[in-house]
Amino acid sequence: MYIGRFAPTPSGPLHFGSIVTAIASFLDAKSNGGKWLVKIDDIDQPRVIRGADAIILNSLKELHLYWDAPVVYQSHRINEYNKKIDYLKKLNAAYLCECSRRDINKLAITGVDGFIYPGICREKKINLSDRVSHRVEVKDELIITQDCIQGIVKQNLSSDIGDFIIKRSDGLFAYQFAVVVDNYLDGVTNIIRGYDLIQSVPRQVFLHQLLDIDVPEFSHIPIATKFDQKISKSCGNKIIIKGNEISIWLKCLAFLNQPMEAYSKSMNIEDIICEAIRCWSKNLIKPLRQIEIDDNIHT
Ligand SMILES: [Zn+2]
Repeated sequence: MYIGRFAPTPSGPLHFGSIVTAIASFLDAKSNGGKWLVKIDDIDQPRVIRGADAIILNSLKELHLYWDAPVVYQSHRINEYNKKIDYLKKLNAAYLCECSRRDINKLAITGVDGFIYPGICREKKINLSDRVSHRVEVKDELIITQDCIQGIVKQNLSSDIGDFIIKRSDGLFAYQFAVVVDNYLDGVTNIIRGYDLIQSVPRQVFLHQLLDIDVPEFSHIPIATKFDQKISKSCGNKIIIKGNEISIWLKCLAFLNQPMEAYSKSMNIEDIICEAIRCWSKNLIKPLRQIEIDDNIHT
């Protein structure tokens, strides 16, 4: 069965880009007769703003985006993440690293997503303490995956990324790692999210394989930008949903390049959503990194 999800970080209210992602993942799940889940990605506690989760969930309800199972929180899954870290250590696939950022800066070259860790601690016997991080040992092989919107994504983790952190020295789990465990716990089959995360696909495919978890199908939608900047929660792009539900839905459908002939502002939201599910075509989404939105998108 198709299981999709929307996984916002509760660092502020939804913005246009996150609403587009929510709507795309919802429509893809519903048009495939699947389930749509909501997971609050609150593993990165320093970014979490208290109460933002409730605001996000309320916004989803206002947009008639109703989830099909109880909302899950990453912060409730610490034991599950630790179990998988232990499993990787037993497999000899993960090791402890005591390098500081400065140590790595001195030796490493820059790859597609920050410094390529040169494997300094791979063969060291380091004791577990509150100053060490956990890294996973990558292989020198090309990982090739097909993104449903953007096409082929490929990386050699050894030469492009290096052994990467799955748990930081401060105890926080890496995004790459936590979401893979979440996919396993939630049975996620399809992931739709913003293009800014596409570079993490090969790492996630690799972790799925190591943990013997089915790899979901990935679709990366363009990022909404304004004046060439990603729209984020912090830069004053507050979107008022109440009273603007229909125009937000229509703007999101247009952003996703869906056929717009069937809609008008006089339709009610239930009819728009029904029609959007019926007409949904993921193939129409433009395979772009970003799309500039017009100034009046913030209704
Ligand atoms: Zn190290």
